[in-house]
Amino acid sequence: MIYLDYQATTPVAPEAAAAMQPWIEEKFANPHSPSRWGHEADAAIEVARNQVESAIGLKGGSLAFTGSATEALNWALKGTVEKAKPGRNRIITLATEHAAVLDSCGWLAERGADVHILPVGKDGLIDLELLAGQLDERTLLVAVMLINNEIGVLQPVSEIARMAHKAGALMLCDAVQALGRVDIPAGPDLVAVSGHKIHGPKGIGALWMKKGAEPAPFVHGGGQERGMRSGTQSPQLCVGFGAAAKLAQDRADKDFDHVQNLWATAMRALGSGWTINGSVNHRYRGNLNLRREGVDGARLIADLRDIAFSLGSACASGSGRPSHVLQALGLNYREARSSLRLGFGRYTKPAELVDACQRIAAAAREQEKLDA
Ligand code: PLP
Repeated sequence: MIYLDYQATTPVAPEAAAAMQPWIEEKFANPHSPSRWGHEADAAIEVARNQVESAIGLKGGSLAFTGSATEALNWALKGTVEKAKPGRNRIITLATEHAAVLDSCGWLAERGADVHILPVGKDGLIDLELLAGQLDERTLLVAVMLINNEIGVLQPVSEIARMAHKAGALMLCDAVQALGRVDIPAGPDLVAVSGHKIHGPKGIGALWMKKGAEPAPFVHGGGQERGMRSGTQSPQLCVGFGAAAKLAQDRADKDFDHVQNLWATAMRALGSGWTINGSVNHRYRGNLNLRREGVDGARLIADLRDIAFSLGSACASGSGRPSHVLQALGLNYREARSSLRLGFGRYTKPAELVDACQRIAAAAREQEKLDA
């Protein structure tokens, strides 16, 4: 299989798997128990916490592990609303956010929050003037992701945070696709990240919180994670996430250059006739979302079963619904249906990418011939 679905999940780094192994096979103590083994597990979790915080790179905050980035985003949104002062109940977000944000906002709106979902331009970028028009003393939180999972577009998060702060609001950044790939800019008060998007294990995420911006506790029980997110921590998942974060930080430049080269390689191998969805310049280049007139993306996926690629987000792809992100760019049904997302990164070899892209392009031309 040629794996080109790096936005859905990433291969586990051998270093992360090796770091996890002892915590799966031998070191099974509960990290919250007072035995020597418990203390050892607890210490390993603290090392991992520092590694993830260091990869995020923001100062003046703390980090709590969660079961996923979805949980971290739910917590950030719902816990911030719970702590809000009377009169501040507006949440502003973008039409291209992940379902974890949009559906949490929908849930909050049903319970009285004043949710504003801003449209994006054809390039997928936020319109800062529209944002400015919605910001006032009623605004509680602005939630914008740094790198979009479907189209790779990079939002100006520092500027958004600066504007939010001027109105006395907080800024939540979904940095799931950005961690280890681009620097997370200063500004956000809350940052959500996920282990499996950075070559770590699935089933673990984290919420970074600037001091003073901590949301209300989310999961109640044994008081773990400073009483904010109860539940026995998993040393193996934390250690794997930590090792993956350290590796991503250590290799950031190398991985970035590799991805830039892969992008150029893919563009050459695909040939002409394709249009890139979303901004070409303001984007992370490990995400190549593109369309071709007359192509049926789902049929291409079915024709090329030994290449793993996708139509959009993993969730939207399975449902048969047109992607809300492509719709937000103004693409019509036919254009959205003719779109593909190729995602590549650290372990993608140029030769396999060329092979896959040439076969995708050939299959697309074949479809055109048959439909002509
Ligand atoms: N946010 C973005 C941008 C994502 O790509 C994803 C994963 O698809 C998530 C949030 C949710 O992450 P997790 O799988 O850890 O719940």
